[in-house]
Amino acid sequence: MNNRTPAGKAATHKPVDMDIDVRWVMRELLEEGRVPQEDYNVISTTPRDKKELGWHPLQVVAKYQLADKLRGGRILDMDFLSEWLAEKSGLPQFHVDPLKIKVDQVTTVMSYAFAERHGILAVEVSRDSVTVACDQPFRRDWEDHLRATLRERELKVVFANPEDMQRYRIEFYNLSRSIAGARDQGGQSLSNVTNFEQLLELGGRGNLDAEDQHVVAIVDWILQYAFSQRASDIHLEPRRDVGKMRFRIDGVLHDVYELPATIMAAVVARLKILGRLNVAEKRRPQDGRLKTRNSEGAEIELRLSTLPTAFGEKMVMRIFDPDVLVRSFDQLGFSKEDHEVWQRMTRSTHGIIFVTGPTGSGKTTTLYSTLKQLSTSEVNVCTIEDPIEMVEPSFNQMQVQHNIDVGFADGVKALLRQDPDIIMIGEIRDLATAEMAVQAALTGHLVLSTLHTNDAPSSITRLIDLGVPAYLITSTVIGIMAQRLIRTLCPDCKQEVATDEVAWNELVRPFKMKMPEKVCRPVGCLECRGTGYRGRVGVYETLPVTAPLKSVIHRNNDLEAITRQALKNGMKPLRISGALKVARGLTTIEEVMRVTPIQDILF
Ligand SMILES: [Zn+2]
Repeated sequence: MNNRTPAGKAATHKPVDMDIDVRWVMRELLEEGRVPQEDYNVISTTPRDKKELGWHPLQVVAKYQLADKLRGGRILDMDFLSEWLAEKSGLPQFHVDPLKIKVDQVTTVMSYAFAERHGILAVEVSRDSVTVACDQPFRRDWEDHLRATLRERELKVVFANPEDMQRYRIEFYNLSRSIAGARDQGGQSLSNVTNFEQLLELGGRGNLDAEDQHVVAIVDWILQYAFSQRASDIHLEPRRDVGKMRFRIDGVLHDVYELPATIMAAVVARLKILGRLNVAEKRRPQDGRLKTRNSEGAEIELRLSTLPTAFGEKMVMRIFDPDVLVRSFDQLGFSKEDHEVWQRMTRSTHGIIFVTGPTGSGKTTTLYSTLKQLSTSEVNVCTIEDPIEMVEPSFNQMQVQHNIDVGFADGVKALLRQDPDIIMIGEIRDLATAEMAVQAALTGHLVLSTLHTNDAPSSITRLIDLGVPAYLITSTVIGIMAQRLIRTLCPDCKQEVATDEVAWNELVRPFKMKMPEKVCRPVGCLECRGTGYRGRVGVYETLPVTAPLKSVIHRNNDLEAITRQALKNGMKPLRISGALKVARGLTTIEEVMRVTPIQDILF
């Protein structure tokens, strides 16, 4: 290829509109004597994994952690390769520091779509110049388009670490949209947040006080940003020099921002005041709650907890959005069949219904949504919870109080004197609570509760293990529903592809299920933070305790026998419910395999 730049300096090299690829990188490294011929042969011909499709060639090469022969075997990592490519291309290297970049200015230079398409990002804007970072230094076909919009200003091109580019491109455009959104809302204290960095700068001056108006504005902004990103948790983590801010979105943590350590400390102090925690106490973990409003004015509750760490207090805020906690069965992802079975079970006037799954599988949302539907003026709905996740005026809610010895079992005993019709017990994890639930069911109440088990059939064996006799299980338990939350594909960027037959068969094993011709794959865009997924939906496995199942439970309480009978009854396992969603193009085979348990008991 005669387009190649010679090794070493090439400062005056003219752009030639060539995309470098893995083969090019490996050949340059080979010719410079940094890697042996074998490495070149293997790596330049190895096809990429599916997950690496969107990667920059430097990322692919860095993944192999090759030893650099010219530098005494030091690893050819992303930092070194970025510097190396910058030098080869004659472009200055630019280190993207999110704290120094004026996000609201750089994002006005070009649209996200343009930046993404060309692998570029504006990083500095001044009165007479605009600096744009790129990750394909030999392709500059975008320059003329961009220059036309810059008028008199000079265009400076720099090279930046491609990994940083991909990440910050999404963060910056999201951030600027959030700031613009806050500005549009007007009125509130957020209206004076015009530039987050400016705010940090102001906040960083002199003594920082939790009541300082800049700190107040930063806290407001963090909360609003988290709401706009549909985060379920905000993590504020002090490190030695900086504070990391991370959001959990659709079950996955994202690094969102870094705050200077002093500002992080002031932000945590401010949040402790808002959550009515003891601000002076920094050595013990504490927890509290705070209520605020989102930009639409809806009330949102946050549960705060602090933990002392080596570099200061770490704070995690869990966001309880009532819109998320109570949803329609359709929004929950119930199929028509799931819904019918669930309705039939919850229409009973007495008995126990379990929702089961690990922490974070959406059990509470299912219970709240169900109770909300069942709660009419004719019935008395009581709950005992630890903690109360959402205050619902139509329920009578009671909180477990460990400090005064009111556990789940005592709570149920107290509730039974309150003439309830329906009782929700947050969780059953001991025999005492299980016995109270059984007693409540036998005396004519409908009990809803949760268990921590992998699937529906193992809830039966769990109750037996706790010490509940089989005859009491069969006479009280109406049914069990196991659930998981799976990420759904982003509707803005998902792409149809032919189904991979091997993967499909692996997914539905040991069952047989018709393979859809096409499924969808994740791509990644601004709307989904480049993940390809947006939002989550439930998959369910419903198991009504029928007469044939009861006789199996009486005969032997072996999990395999119970599972086989459940399947004979028509129970659809979690994986199969997930596979149905894959076939509808809502999610992917990988996601369902990641989240749902395999039926290995039947192999
Ligand atoms: Zn997307």
